[in-house]
Amino acid sequence: MQAISRRYPRLSPFLRTVAQRERERERERESDMAGVSLVCVPLVAKSVEQMLSEMATAKVRGADVVEIRLDHLASFEPRRDLDLLLRNRPLPALVTYRPKWEGGEYEGDDGRRFEALFLAMEFGADYVDIELKVAQEFLDYLSGKRQDRTKLIVSSHNYQSTPSTEDLSSLVARIQAVGADIVKIATTAVDIVDVARMFEVMVHCQVPMIGLVMGERGLISRILCPKFGGYLTFATLSVGKESAPGQPTLSDLLDIYNIKQIRADTKVYGIVGKPVGHSKGPILHGAAFRSVGYDAVYLPLLVDDFASFLHTYSSPDFAGFSVTMPHKEAALACSDEVDPIAKYIGAVNTLIKRPSDGKLIGYNTDYTGAISAIETTLQGSSGKVSAGSPLADKVFVVLGAGGAGKALAYGAKEKGARVVIANRTYERAKELANLVGGQAISLADLENFHPEEGMILANTTSIGMHPNIHDTPLSKQALKSYALVFDAIYNPVVTRLLREAEELGVTIVTGMEMFIRQAMGQFELFTGLPAPEKLMRDTLLSIQ
Ligand code: NAP
Repeated sequence: MQAISRRYPRLSPFLRTVAQRERERERERESDMAGVSLVCVPLVAKSVEQMLSEMATAKVRGADVVEIRLDHLASFEPRRDLDLLLRNRPLPALVTYRPKWEGGEYEGDDGRRFEALFLAMEFGADYVDIELKVAQEFLDYLSGKRQDRTKLIVSSHNYQSTPSTEDLSSLVARIQAVGADIVKIATTAVDIVDVARMFEVMVHCQVPMIGLVMGERGLISRILCPKFGGYLTFATLSVGKESAPGQPTLSDLLDIYNIKQIRADTKVYGIVGKPVGHSKGPILHGAAFRSVGYDAVYLPLLVDDFASFLHTYSSPDFAGFSVTMPHKEAALACSDEVDPIAKYIGAVNTLIKRPSDGKLIGYNTDYTGAISAIETTLQGSSGKVSAGSPLADKVFVVLGAGGAGKALAYGAKEKGARVVIANRTYERAKELANLVGGQAISLADLENFHPEEGMILANTTSIGMHPNIHDTPLSKQALKSYALVFDAIYNPVVTRLLREAEELGVTIVTGMEMFIRQAMGQFELFTGLPAPEKLMRDTLLSIQ
């Protein structure tokens, strides 16, 4: 084909496409399920019995392959144990005997390792992994006795960083040159942008490739593997059974990220923050996407530098993001266009890439979430449905002047409320009060603040949040002046502030209600579809 393309240069792009298609078809043939990456469970148990039992569990839970990590066995009798393990395998098996010098547990000489791997081939292993550093020696050892039924994975691990795209490409070429059936490269993410280089190399690789980036910042390489044509990705049976840093669990991969449905054109959304590990967003949005058949995946995105993240993942497929601490202000600065209220608030919690021109549009669904939760509750408790907002002309006290405080203050002002700001740092209260045309008071004065009945209190400080659940920002006595108390905190769902308000018969609105509503707002911005409210509420309830 290269000769034809040299002779007919104008045909070259077409030929490239044909060649590319051929390679894709080949890759699909290689994979047991066309277009889907295999999910492999590494077995790091200490005994053969335990490994056999974990193999059975892996099959029941939906894995495609198991990796037998011989180097983790406490005692290993090659002929007996490999026969047992491979004869009784319920799934295709990859056999790995990783030495210490490549991040494994085996400390002996290579001769014994080669012998065991050769035996594994004789017993019918579906895959055998050998490290690039000794791959040629291993092939020399096999000297023509290589078994066709066993695919040879030649692997390279870098536990420090991810090299440049050029260096990764030349590593792929070296692995291919040695005679690998499957190329495996595992590197380490210092920053989430490192993963993009692995994706780039993987989509262009001409042989099946496993390209994984280890560590929490590399998680997306493990989930988006099918999108970028990866042959296989690893997932553990449970937390603590990882064979490399950053491996997700099998149930997360299958149930939360729906990996079997990810294809090349699946859209990517996610929560950008630092930290993000605790976020309920992936479970909530993943379930919502699935319930309406929207072809998208929602990921936790641990990002250090927001601008560089956006610049790196600029393709239209990275279609939208939820944004949390500490990036809400950076998201505003990076937006091409911003919803006017988000601009006022100075924080963007939702960013979407407009499909028509790729421009980044920033929104704030925190304020709509909180304000609509309070409005709906007020309407429900009064039994009256008024044309205007039930907040109009009410005294609305915002406790706190940070991100959530600003969102609540602007939202309340928008609805015609008379806004009062109380904050630990009085200067910040004054600043915000001036911006929204409200009044600032000190925390001490708030205790006896009671200009009228029917006031609303919104706590936007973190006082009372887990683990300090016995703290409260205002005395129970002072709560008597309010008709409704809202708390932005959602962990715990019912804070001491809300519990004491409820004991006094005051109507309460939880931070969880704000959370669900801001997530529903995001879903609608992401998909253009109405949010599946019941499904989202049920999902959230099931994970509390
Ligand atoms: P932030 O920008 O850091 O603001 C924190 C505010 O709390 C500031 O006004 C700060 O006062 C005050 N504060 C903190 N510790 C205090 C203390 N010990 N005593 C008195 N005041 C104190 O944080 P944020 O983003 O607004 O978040 C605030 C809370 O809202 C968090 O609990 C967060 O989880 C919650 N939240 C919930 C949702 C939801 O969907 N439910 C969404 C966003 C935020 P100073 O100005 O004096 O520092």
